[in-house]
Amino acid sequence: MNLRRFLGMDIAREKYAYARDAAVGHISAQKVAHDWVKTTCGYCSVGCGMMLGIREGQVVTSRGDPGHPVSRGKLCPKGLAEHYVLNAENRAMHPLLRIENALSRVSWDEAMQTMAGRFRRVAERYGPESIGVISTGQLVTEEFYTLGKLVQLGLGTSNYDGNTTLCMSTAVAGYKRSFGSDGPPGAYEDLARADVILLIGANIAENHPILCQHLDANRAKTLIVADPRVTKTAMMADIYLPVRPRSDLALVNGMAHILIRDGLIDREYISQHTKGFDELCRCVEKYNPEYVAGITGLSPELIHNVTHLYGKAKAAFIGWTMGVNHSSKGTETVNAINNLALLTGNVGRVGGTPFSITGQCNAMGTRESGFTSSLPGYRKFESAADREELARLWSIPAERIPTARGLAYPDIIDAVLKKRIKALWIIATNPLVSFPNIEVLKQALGELEFLVVQDCFHPTPTTELAHMVLPAAGWGEKEGTYTNSERRVSKVNAAVSPPGQALSDFEIFLRLADELDCRDELFTGWKEPRDAFEEWKRVSAGRLCDYSGITYEALEEAGGIQWPFPKSTDSPADATRRLYSDGEFKTDDGKAQLICTEWEPFPEQPSANFPFVLNTGRTVEHWHTRTKTGAVAILEQISPRAWLEMNPVDAKRLMLRPHELVDVVSTRGRVRRVELRITEMIAPGQVFVPFHFAEWNINEVTQDIFDPISREPNYKQCAVRVERSSLAPVR
Ligand code: SF4
Repeated sequence: MNLRRFLGMDIAREKYAYARDAAVGHISAQKVAHDWVKTTCGYCSVGCGMMLGIREGQVVTSRGDPGHPVSRGKLCPKGLAEHYVLNAENRAMHPLLRIENALSRVSWDEAMQTMAGRFRRVAERYGPESIGVISTGQLVTEEFYTLGKLVQLGLGTSNYDGNTTLCMSTAVAGYKRSFGSDGPPGAYEDLARADVILLIGANIAENHPILCQHLDANRAKTLIVADPRVTKTAMMADIYLPVRPRSDLALVNGMAHILIRDGLIDREYISQHTKGFDELCRCVEKYNPEYVAGITGLSPELIHNVTHLYGKAKAAFIGWTMGVNHSSKGTETVNAINNLALLTGNVGRVGGTPFSITGQCNAMGTRESGFTSSLPGYRKFESAADREELARLWSIPAERIPTARGLAYPDIIDAVLKKRIKALWIIATNPLVSFPNIEVLKQALGELEFLVVQDCFHPTPTTELAHMVLPAAGWGEKEGTYTNSERRVSKVNAAVSPPGQALSDFEIFLRLADELDCRDELFTGWKEPRDAFEEWKRVSAGRLCDYSGITYEALEEAGGIQWPFPKSTDSPADATRRLYSDGEFKTDDGKAQLICTEWEPFPEQPSANFPFVLNTGRTVEHWHTRTKTGAVAILEQISPRAWLEMNPVDAKRLMLRPHELVDVVSTRGRVRRVELRITEMIAPGQVFVPFHFAEWNINEVTQDIFDPISREPNYKQCAVRVERSSLAPVR
């Protein structure tokens, strides 16, 4: 190569050679495909339909599926480059077992026998609840359903949760408290049909980009964005509300105050379909515009005007994501948002809904069919009738079904620290980057007798600590379904085989069930994901998330179907678009609960030593802990390193210059040598750092404080200081 370059020969010809593609004309010759496989994007919960182009057994390109109702042929940068992940160098290829402090290859038989044997020994010695399992929102629903049964009934532990507790458990808890069940009530179509859209702590332009085309389709809307940071989404707004960190709950209560005071409420809807109105009136009485202005930093006039826009809208949509969920007051904030929707009758109405935009591609699938915060089919652990129904469906004694959920993710980690959990199985997640106050987690994992990490990638910071690594097939290599934020179930297909000896998570679960001697009982005759899907359809029948009329074939044809879709539904065109349109909720008396909530300041306030409020979040090029996107050259080239955003006023005071390297310090740790970006996107007194980068892991400094109801971490606010780094060269 060097000689050819030295001689002036073209060494990159194949990289820019072009060829003719039947659909799009001239394109890079490297991207010309001979066959196409339809599937669904494996990153975020928008659930874009895509087509994978295959040539000579390799996936050479990803394209948007023009017929897909969600994405209509579009993909964001991550989706467009997703096929590169399949050939990443850091794919996990072989089962590995730690022998004499090094991970060594073993066969699948040895891995499964060892895992079953070690788990069995731990259970015999300390009881089955000394085993913990932490999964993800990235598997297909068929795998979540299988895993839930395997963990709760095969391993016999309820200490099972997902990394969805780090992002969506707040929305789940909020929906359950207000409406009696989890399940987002609205549809993406509502973004195009609402006349007022209020986004709170939701930077969809960066994190759910393809949703923006649904917004763009709505020319008549007024878009209001509340966010402490001037995000790309805030830049799209008609009205931007620069709220102070964690003042969202005060703002929403203030809006409820004005709606009630000024008669902008739907009294008939409130009396027929809700309870708790009088208590709510008393609770929000003190949230007058002046009081709320003092907390949020907005003017009383702005709060008044925005509330009147919302209250007078024919259909009003409120969307939120992590700005609300990542808070120790998150569940209450979701309830306060639901209050606004209920006060104005904006639930189940075309264009009118409260709407949690979920995070991972199949966070919804684990919520519906998993066995973590609910029994499968949104059944309640505490309901004897629900447990008996499930037991009948599974032909097992009802006593085997737990009567309460086990420990949530942060409490599993705490139990490891306290030596109550001795063996842990982590599936498709990388907590050594994503968990708050990482030092505590590192300490906890060091206490374990046996740590199994099942992942598509190795090494990751988490697999490096494991006693056993199980190589899993990834997106593009397996079959099943995902559910997106609007309850749309979409088909996921394999385009290629997994690398090396990697197996689908479904196959790994069945092999472990074999070793645990529970396969015949729990998974009778199962061979492929379709078997799990057929059983899940029966288990979901009659529930809010009814899948019983859905088939794989119909999913392929329709490009996804929204649940509930009972057997009696004639065609996907007749699918239920919105929940609760009849005003009947899933509470005992069918009425939604208006809930009193109380604003309070975030737990760790800035001080003389730590004068900044740290906010963390995402960038469009990367996904979570970068195990996937870090392996995609084009995304890495665009966004190769972490940065810190600081307002020019603060930078001047600290005498810092653009692109200098700074350290971020809290009482918990120090993140070194982060590139400084001086920008008015961030208000004075606040700083922002993306959370994707293990090399600059901002979770070294975030705080391990959790929402008491949902157990979700308070990632969004903690007190830090910023210092100029030492003068060593840039990495
Ligand atoms: S918006 Fe989400 S689902 Fe769509 S292509 Fe991007 S990452 Fe994938």
